[in-house]
Amino acid sequence: MSDSSNTAFSSIGLQPGLMQNLESLGYNTMTPIQAQSLPNIIAGKDVIGQGKTGSGKTAAFGLGLLNSLDVKRFYVQSLVLCPTRELADQVAKEIRRLARAIHNIKVLTLCGGMPFGPQIGSLEHGAHIVVGTPGRVEEHVRKNNLDLSKLSVLVLDEADRMLEMGFQAALDAIIETMPKQRQTLLFSATFPEEIQAIASRIMTAPVMTQVESTH
Ligand code: ADP
Ligand code: MG
Repeated sequence: MSDSSNTAFSSIGLQPGLMQNLESLGYNTMTPIQAQSLPNIIAGKDVIGQGKTGSGKTAAFGLGLLNSLDVKRFYVQSLVLCPTRELADQVAKEIRRLARAIHNIKVLTLCGGMPFGPQIGSLEHGAHIVVGTPGRVEEHVRKNNLDLSKLSVLVLDEADRMLEMGFQAALDAIIETMPKQRQTLLFSATFPEEIQAIASRIMTAPVMTQVESTH
């Protein structure tokens, strides 16, 4: 008999709307990284997730931040930072799919290479979740277009690539404007010293979850 009890989404206490939507998306069981990280994420812990491409990291942090989000509070509760516009667009698309059951939720993307002015207009209209690239997000923070003072969850997706691309200073400037009391989730394919260093600076007692790349 397969060990489905450990991989059923129903075992981890997701909101009913999110659960029903997962069924309609055909997400029947958690991937290994989801099974390891989601219970910790839902418990509000800081989590480091190391797993190769295609292991389902987006839904791991996406379901976590959606589960703790209060849609009635219309301010930026979660920020997801990605290395490139393409990745940010993919993440925002997946979060919107996972959030279909949440009425009136606003997910905004803020990426470089896109016109700046319209992003200011979108920020004035407000958002619950921002997904973006570090350079552009830092610019909006610096110009007071984006207020992160009530942020609950920070996600660094593909953190190793963000550091390789030279986004360290932008990340630091963004994180400085957030509450220290928040949940921080860090995903990375590799775990070099630079990642360990940033994790120890910006995370609190992180739980390490790791999936071997055996397939
Ligand atoms: P990663 O970020 O780890 O590279 P993604 O989050 O992009 O991987 O997920 C890869 C693919 O797997 C996506 O198409 C996503 O929709 C799908 N997926 C994620 N979790 C599940 C699941 N539990 N069941 C079925 N498909 C899933
Ligand atoms: Mg990914």
